[in-house]
Amino acid sequence: MENCIFCKIVRGEISSKHVYEDADVFAFHDIHPAAPVHFMVVPKLHISSLADVEDKHRSLLGDMMILIPRLAKEQGCTDGFRTVINTGRVGGQEVYHLHIHVIGGRDRLPVMIPHPR
Ligand code: AMP
Ligand code: ZN
Repeated sequence: MENCIFCKIVRGEISSKHVYEDADVFAFHDIHPAAPVHFMVVPKLHISSLADVEDKHRSLLGDMMILIPRLAKEQGCTDGFRTVINTGRVGGQEVYHLHIHVIGGRDRLPVMIPHPR
């Protein structure tokens, strides 16, 4: 995808803080970290959002999920972490290239969506 910012990061046309790369997956630190550890795992293939995944992406998505706990641990998340996929308008997605946020650090993260009481 010509103008997609994460495709440009994958191609090295925009610099990023490297976390991981293999033939199909790329990971880099979020430019505006929400916690001491905050990086993104993306497929090199341009998929716009989780709403656009298809059966043919099954093994790619599986590979990403298997990879995440390993990378999280390597980045210092020894006692848990949070994964977030914002999807579409309601999900508040800003960049339309599928990405899994991995967020963690030393302290417990705040409740993501407060429970109504
Ligand atoms: P969202 O689409 O809502 O999941 O959010 C997109 C995320 O991408 C935000 O957390 C941004 O801080 C992050 N982001 C946007 N541009 C860059 C960039 N050039 N390098 C690293 N992270 C970025
Ligand atoms: Zn893209």
